[in-house]
Amino acid sequence: MVRFPESESPSMTIERTTFGRTPGGDSVACFSLENGRGTRIELIELGAAVRSVQLLDGSGSRTDIVLGYDDLEGYLSNPAYLGCIAGRVANRIAGGRFVLDGKAYALERNDGPHHLHGGSEGLHGRLWRGEPRSQRSVRFAYRSPDGEGGYPGTLELGVTYVLSEDDELRIEYEAETDTATPVNLTNHSYFNLNGHSGPDVANHVLELRASRYTVPDATRIPTGELRAVNGSAFDFTRPAALRERLEQLPGDPAGGDPGGLDHNYVLDSDGGGVELAARVAEPGTRRTLEVLTSEPGVQVYTGNFLDGSIVGKAGARYGKHQGLCLETQHFPDSVNRPEFPSVVLRPGRTWTSTTVYRFGRE
Ligand code: BGC
Repeated sequence: MVRFPESESPSMTIERTTFGRTPGGDSVACFSLENGRGTRIELIELGAAVRSVQLLDGSGSRTDIVLGYDDLEGYLSNPAYLGCIAGRVANRIAGGRFVLDGKAYALERNDGPHHLHGGSEGLHGRLWRGEPRSQRSVRFAYRSPDGEGGYPGTLELGVTYVLSEDDELRIEYEAETDTATPVNLTNHSYFNLNGHSGPDVANHVLELRASRYTVPDATRIPTGELRAVNGSAFDFTRPAALRERLEQLPGDPAGGDPGGLDHNYVLDSDGGGVELAARVAEPGTRRTLEVLTSEPGVQVYTGNFLDGSIVGKAGARYGKHQGLCLETQHFPDSVNRPEFPSVVLRPGRTWTSTTVYRFGRE
């Protein structure tokens, strides 16, 4: 148990345990943060991942509202990126190619013809090192060597998770490089306010502070068009039940399109700070989740590719729509789209980004 003398949160504790060993023999730590309300968050060093978000109910029992695995084995493969940090560039880069300062780079194509979430050498599978920074925060650090995943530059990364007494989980990202390189980090938690093993997220109600989205082509690469959501199945400017929208977006399962939401929204923020991006409510339990961010976009992903093959915590099988990801980030394929906000980090600059997940009750 780590206690800090200057603590302004006397009821907050951080516990460090061993979560297992990698095949190479490195020990992987799990940090468990608990606040005075009894909210407990578990974070692991592999992928700097959120393993659980456990909310205390009136009856004294805890409900875990994120998908995850019981053991390190699960996180070592983690095909759906449960809970982890995705990068160096989260989301897709068209054709796995980009040109920066006149030099062409070729990345792994791990999503059909495209590069997704940093490829198989992505940050989700790296061993970050965590250290408590205060009574209520843990900072994870990782140095990504030059050329890792095909990206230029040695990248020094930091991700700090801070749990507040009023149930906010704040994520602060930092990155520095020695060579110009694209950076776009996100956390890939799948939320389910029913509990990770409960009914799927169709009963959730979603509201987004976004009046436009980036129109994707059939392979989920933006065409460049920012389209108004106005009255369409993508319109969450007023709260809407996911069930209704999932029915309107059936896709073409036989043709490999599972339907549902897997879209990047352009946030209506003025770019000035950490602003409200999304609000989710589950009317049955009355649990709520608010997402605030400094990022210009959010990928809303309704777990369309989950097919029951993943066995998660306590033996739960995660099927289609079992979790909802709200991945705050820059837009997909930004490195190839000069008209989108830039993801290029240059030496001498520090890239920073903040996202807050706020848990509550209606
Ligand atoms: C992507 C999905 C993908 C999922 C898991 C999301 O960010 O948009 O298309 O299946 O991550 O990789």
